[in-house]
Amino acid sequence: MAHAVRIIMLGRQGAGKGTQCVRLADEFGAPHISTGEMLRAAVRKDSALGRAVKAVLDKGELVNDELMISLVQGRIGEEDARMSGYILDGFPRTVAQAQAFDHISEVRPTDLVIDLEVKRDLVLSRLSSRRTCEQCQANYVATGAESSPWTCEKCGGTVVQRADDTPEAINHRLDLYDAMTSPLISYYKDQNKLAVVDGLGTPDEVFARLRTAVAGIKNR
Ligand code: ADP
Ligand code: ZN
Repeated sequence: MAHAVRIIMLGRQGAGKGTQCVRLADEFGAPHISTGEMLRAAVRKDSALGRAVKAVLDKGELVNDELMISLVQGRIGEEDARMSGYILDGFPRTVAQAQAFDHISEVRPTDLVIDLEVKRDLVLSRLSSRRTCEQCQANYVATGAESSPWTCEKCGGTVVQRADDTPEAINHRLDLYDAMTSPLISYYKDQNKLAVVDGLGTPDEVFARLRTAVAGIKNR
């Protein structure tokens, strides 16, 4: 079996993290763990967790650190992540989460933290036209010419605009990213774990850069 790979992906909303994390997960045989997706799944199921976080998500606020830390601790303790590692998408998002995660992951530490770099004005326009399949989470770009309801090409699910992809919620999430999450870039740089990857270009171009960054782990 190949060695497990443990990667944290940082980057603004709309930088393409989701798409690239799916590809990395495929390439390295590690589970893609998206905390946003875990939370949205809980909302869809109307579980106790879902009811507790729905309003927070819709407003684009951050779910509290304690809840997020225990959610992720549980998830990375599952067999697939213990065996094969993880591509962690959406966590940590605050310094408190990062510190807690250092502690939780002490036995099997993160190999690499990637900052997928795309400037704020660029992600804003990407997010406003983003549409997402409710069922498989595939992302699409709206042109205005779509039929309604819009059916997902991959799974036949319904393609909608995420409740938190309104202009207000988008701007608020980007503000929170700058204030709360961007300090993690220097946090992991100081730990000598950071690779900055340019997120501009086609998905294939960006993925090629990511592979190069991950290959760098082995040469340490
Ligand atoms: P985006 O990157 O566009 O905000 P995500 O799918 O990563 O989308 O997250 C959606 C929402 O889930 C966030 O706006 C936030 O409310 C919540 N969330 C996800 N991960 C975290 C986290 N680590 N800490 C706090 N809230 C989180
Ligand atoms: Zn779908």
